[in-house]
Amino acid sequence: MASKMLQFVSEAKAMPDKRKAATRKADFDEIYADFSAQSAETQAARCSQCGVPFCQVNCPLHNNIPDWLMLTAEDRLQEAYEVASATNNFPEICGRICPQDRLCEGNCVIEKGFESVTIGAVEKYITETAFDKGWVKPVAPSVELEQSVGIIGAGPAGLAAADQLRRKGYQVVIYDRYDRVGGLLIYGIPGFKLEKDIVQRRADLLAAGGVEFQLNCEIGKDISFADLRARHAAVLIATGVYKARDIQLPGSGLDGVVPALDYLTASNRKSLGDKVADFDSGTLNAEGRDVVVIGGGDTAMDCVRTAVRQKAKSVTCLYRRDRANMPGSQREVENAEEEGVQFEWLSAPRAFDGDGRVESVIAQSIHLGQPDETGRQVPQIIDGSDRRLPADLVIKALGFDAEDLPALFGEKDLTVTRWGTVQIDWQSMMTSMDGVFAAGDIVRGASLVVWGVRDGRDAAVAIDSFIQAEARAENRAAS
Ligand code: FAD
Ligand code: SF4
Ligand code: SF4
Repeated sequence: MASKMLQFVSEAKAMPDKRKAATRKADFDEIYADFSAQSAETQAARCSQCGVPFCQVNCPLHNNIPDWLMLTAEDRLQEAYEVASATNNFPEICGRICPQDRLCEGNCVIEKGFESVTIGAVEKYITETAFDKGWVKPVAPSVELEQSVGIIGAGPAGLAAADQLRRKGYQVVIYDRYDRVGGLLIYGIPGFKLEKDIVQRRADLLAAGGVEFQLNCEIGKDISFADLRARHAAVLIATGVYKARDIQLPGSGLDGVVPALDYLTASNRKSLGDKVADFDSGTLNAEGRDVVVIGGGDTAMDCVRTAVRQKAKSVTCLYRRDRANMPGSQREVENAEEEGVQFEWLSAPRAFDGDGRVESVIAQSIHLGQPDETGRQVPQIIDGSDRRLPADLVIKALGFDAEDLPALFGEKDLTVTRWGTVQIDWQSMMTSMDGVFAAGDIVRGASLVVWGVRDGRDAAVAIDSFIQAEARAENRAAS
């Protein structure tokens, strides 16, 4: 074992510097600085190089974390980058936005007595260093294959699959209905978690490596699914999930009650310099408003923190369970609290009130009852607990479901689950249609970037096997 390691006993955990709330509230830039070389080495050296590294087991990509920590501690950064990028197409993105407390870091064994190794921040540091030093190069396949793969969706799942397939020499075309590459990385997740040039840098690299992007192109509308299938040897569906879950309450139809993704997309577009009519008109702009966000997941946290940056008058988050039972990352809740967001735990809306436009939310208190069959305590309304919260912008962040893809694609043979997600065989990653594969949120339901990358990589392996088997069968038939 390397002598530099095992420093957790003497070195305390330290995250990269975080900008003060008062400063970071004024812009949409990321809130964490990069590690200095010295801090990255010191923090990486805290790893105890476990024989069974639970960090790695609990990373969806099974990243070889102990090895790249040791290489960082020894200042062998180019090797660290090679190891980190061997299993992850976008380590600098995952290092920034994975909920590490639930994945790698939450399972770091030294966490029991000492605080975990700062795995995500080191992963980001390694990859940013690699970009700075020019070690990150566009893909240059050793052979060019004639077969092409069509990928629907330029989110993390589609992009990871494209990268892997291009490395093997396939001709890859990604179709996306948006005007930019990145899916939720660009239009969902705000810049204070992931700055947009980080995503654009990857898009540029893929294009330089020969991946073709056809943007502003909606499959099922601009090109039929059947046409797409006829164009390519295989097709990957990586369309994500975008149908916002809704609540029907008295006043739901009032102006100023808006879905979370519309709100976040408008904000992201504005930051990217686009002209956004709904923002400029005030419909999707929190400036000067009393904002109430309903929900307790990562999307809700992104909305409250966006509203703060848009200079809302007040920002309140209503969540029906308590802090310990919220799905969002605890780190993000802390960040939101530091930035001045008020949390109303164990609270749910009963109605929205106003004359044409929402003016207040009538909220009720909740008691957590007996656990249901999933083990989660069931929220129960406390009678007579109504209270009125001023609100002239209400943002509904209640999660997402899959759109009706068989209908959108005009393909009734595409089998979906009872949740509307696309059903695949997890061995072959293939859907019910021959040569059609699926990956990411459209298979798992709303999930995480790192799972999208994992699925995209698995799909690329499966697509390669499928195309090569088809080619062998054709050769046999021809001979
Ligand atoms: P997406 O990223 O949704 O990409 C799908 C792409 O398909 C889109 O570009 C869409 O335009 C395109 N598309 C859809 N239909 C068509 C069609 N018919 N024709 C052409 N193109 C089409 N995860 C984390 O790990 N960390 C976070 O901090 C985090 N924060 C989040 C914050 C918000 C607000 C949201 C909404 C999600 C967040 N997530 C986070 C989840 C994460 O963004 C998703 O799990 C991930 O982006 C899914 O990747 P994907 O490639 O499956 O789909
Ligand atoms: Fe941790 Fe995510 Fe990196 Fe895996 S990809 S090591 S879970 S930050
Ligand atoms: Fe190092 Fe923690 Fe992983 Fe063990 S679990 S190898 S200490 S990072």
